[in-house]
Amino acid sequence: MFRTIQVTAAALIAALLVGSGVSRAESGYSFSATAGKLPKTVVPAHYAIDLKPDLSTLAVSGSEVVDIKVLQPTDRLVLNALDMVLQSASLDGEAGQVAAITSQPKAQTVTLSFPHPLAAGPHKLRIAFTGRINRFGRGLFVVDYPTGHGRKRMIATELEPADARRIFPCWDEPAFKASFEPSVTVPRNFLALSNMPISHEEPAGGASKRVSFAATPRMSTYLFVLVAGDLERLTGDADGVTVGVVAASGKRAQGRYALDSAISLLRYYNNYFGFKYPLPKLDLIAVPGGVGGAMENWGGIVFNESILLFDPSSSPDALHRSIFGVLAHEMAHQWFGDLVTMGWWNDLWLNEGFASWMQDKAADRLHPDWQVWLNGGTAKQVAMDVDARRTSHPIQQPVADESEAQSVFDSITYSKSQVFIRELENYLGAEKFREGIRRYMAAHAYSNATTADLWLALQQASGKQVASIAIPYTEQPGVPLIVSRASCVNDRHRLILGQERFFRRPTNARSQLWQIPIAFGTTGASEPSGVVLMQGRTMQIDDGRCSTPIKLNFGDVGYYRVEYDPATEAALARSIEVMAPADRVNLLADNWALVEADRITADRYFRLVDAVVNDRNRAVLQQVISTVGRLDDLERGLPGRLAFQAYARSRLRPAFDRLGWNRAAGESEDNTILRSKLIAELGGLNDGAVLAEAKRRFAAFVKDPNSLDVNLRGPVIFLAGRSADRATYDELRALGRKATSTEERVRYYSALAAAVNPELAKETLAITLTDEVPLDLANGLILTVAAGEHLQLALAFVKANFEALAAKRGPTFRAFFMSSLMTNFADRAHADELANFAPVHETAGGRIMAARAQEEIIEAADFRARQLPAVDKWVAQHPAL
Ligand SMILES: [Zn+2]
Repeated sequence: MFRTIQVTAAALIAALLVGSGVSRAESGYSFSATAGKLPKTVVPAHYAIDLKPDLSTLAVSGSEVVDIKVLQPTDRLVLNALDMVLQSASLDGEAGQVAAITSQPKAQTVTLSFPHPLAAGPHKLRIAFTGRINRFGRGLFVVDYPTGHGRKRMIATELEPADARRIFPCWDEPAFKASFEPSVTVPRNFLALSNMPISHEEPAGGASKRVSFAATPRMSTYLFVLVAGDLERLTGDADGVTVGVVAASGKRAQGRYALDSAISLLRYYNNYFGFKYPLPKLDLIAVPGGVGGAMENWGGIVFNESILLFDPSSSPDALHRSIFGVLAHEMAHQWFGDLVTMGWWNDLWLNEGFASWMQDKAADRLHPDWQVWLNGGTAKQVAMDVDARRTSHPIQQPVADESEAQSVFDSITYSKSQVFIRELENYLGAEKFREGIRRYMAAHAYSNATTADLWLALQQASGKQVASIAIPYTEQPGVPLIVSRASCVNDRHRLILGQERFFRRPTNARSQLWQIPIAFGTTGASEPSGVVLMQGRTMQIDDGRCSTPIKLNFGDVGYYRVEYDPATEAALARSIEVMAPADRVNLLADNWALVEADRITADRYFRLVDAVVNDRNRAVLQQVISTVGRLDDLERGLPGRLAFQAYARSRLRPAFDRLGWNRAAGESEDNTILRSKLIAELGGLNDGAVLAEAKRRFAAFVKDPNSLDVNLRGPVIFLAGRSADRATYDELRALGRKATSTEERVRYYSALAAAVNPELAKETLAITLTDEVPLDLANGLILTVAAGEHLQLALAFVKANFEALAAKRGPTFRAFFMSSLMTNFADRAHADELANFAPVHETAGGRIMAARAQEEIIEAADFRARQLPAVDKWVAQHPAL
């Protein structure tokens, strides 16, 4: 049946609500029904934890007193502990009560057995244990870092999803919330931080002190934090909360931008959530290496230093955007995740999707000139690519254990959720949506929630059905594809639309159906003509005059791809200049995805590229940059590569020639960012003039660092590394060794890891076996060598040294690293090799990531065989503009 609906946004909401009914109703949160492995007969209420870490032997001795509540009489307590020894345990002050302590290493648990069932009600459990400080960034770990006064050592924690059990015995699942009151013995010159402020400090013999912290509110174990080192703190006040930026001694001033941003954000969030940030302080802690990214521990967020500190003498202006983005994300988690936590990891999107959405919403509100939705569109494209594979998963997906939980931290959970939430906010209206969020926060504060609880809150606030719209997006995987066929009837367009699931490779997967709100409009219009809700397999739209084409997904807000008939596609390409930037990006991205899926030929995409060669918008040009960069990778080792590189240079050159090497007075920051990306890509495509100028500027920089604009340091130093000879390589390494800022250290080492010279690449790989750089950077160096010209070399190195590397880097490396490395390959033999590489198949999470990587490799292999010949043909026919 064909149906035509043309409606306003308000009518659309009404249409959405008719819905197709709830396909599968998840329940609201209940502790007893929540997934997890630990028995729910006993719950912890309060942990008093005392830790004595020895920073030279890396041993930790600890003790804890846990107030527990027995819900049902039981003769055993099962809790989590990993890589530690329980020396003694007693209940209610009686040592003899505990008959046996046994450990189950595979389940990461210990069991305390009692001769008689414990009576229901409160008890006090006391445990003495010894554990260790890790060298890899999980649990409690050590960070050795360079300073102007030699190397120093500090300790920090990273516990999500399930590494609190490496520090103290605990009920280490998100539903087992309790309060935590830690104390720690550290060197007297150290600053120690935890979730809450220090309550008491006292000498602890020798050069040590014992630092005690106030008790936290009820929270999940994975949000516990402990950091100590030679640190200093810069503070300010936001609505009565002390906000602090903590950094290695000497770097406090570089935290100014983060501090000011955090103060604005805290005020914005206090208002938005309608629930004031409940802790007395919020520390933003910069750790100089050892952690990748950032972690939202309640009251004590830990960041890799390079994404929190801003050094005006070396940081590019655009770093402000990254710092703000990560900060806004982690601070949103103080509510979404910390105050209200998902019951189990299957609902991780409630944390990550919301923090990702809120991060951009806050940036759009506080820095509208950044145009984050337009400029951040790459994340959406990545999510849609992942979601168009058979190994994709629904936003809500079952998670069996902790290793599987790690595999959920991906672009589906972050970016697809983010796009979906933005769509949902659009349809419910920003005010009603916020009211729903406020209800949800108030109803589940200091507790847990499920996705169903969120739908209920939004439904109550808006008076509208939410679940029926949302469930097709959150409970089934995949990207919808709208196939549009247009004809002209009485000088009006008639569009016949069909929907199906979009796959990057042909598949027999079962058919799926979504309710898709489709915005459409004539090119050149500032607003869409209308929004229709597509509910069935097909529908019809009549709109506009036949002289101007109709574009679907107007404004690029929707999560779906569109395939037009060839005549409409050609008409859209001709009028691309009058479209808004978001629609230009959308048209390019959809066409490229259709080429990758072998649904259309490459020339359709390249015609669009020719139409935007003189475009001035960064997001539009970045779509082209990323596509030609990907094609250049796929051409590796093939005879067409040189011609392709020449073609690609000719399409990027006009934009670079317009911008030039030097910043114009009053230039927009987007142009500054674009210049830097163009230089890096043109250099990668072997543009001789760009490489020569980069080399000249690098030589001048070595003599006088101030000679090189901070905004050009990234690309110039990277290209110097790429084309490095022995002398330049040594120069970069010396600069990297000398650097005391993580940002600079990463920049120098990443540059030398890109060296095309194979002897230098081997030397870089050898560095990763030593302690010269922190492990997170060392892993990055292997991946940079692989992503450059030395994939085979990198693979051979990792295989030859796998056990040594894994022993040093811990379980995350063992389970996942090989899968990330191998996605650089584009031939079936390597997909098979990964399938047979035993260590990645040891855990459920490792198997999931390996299967995804295999599909990605096979997809690239198929692309090389099927579509690259057409790319080469186009290039041969269109050598230069
Ligand atoms: Zn997050």
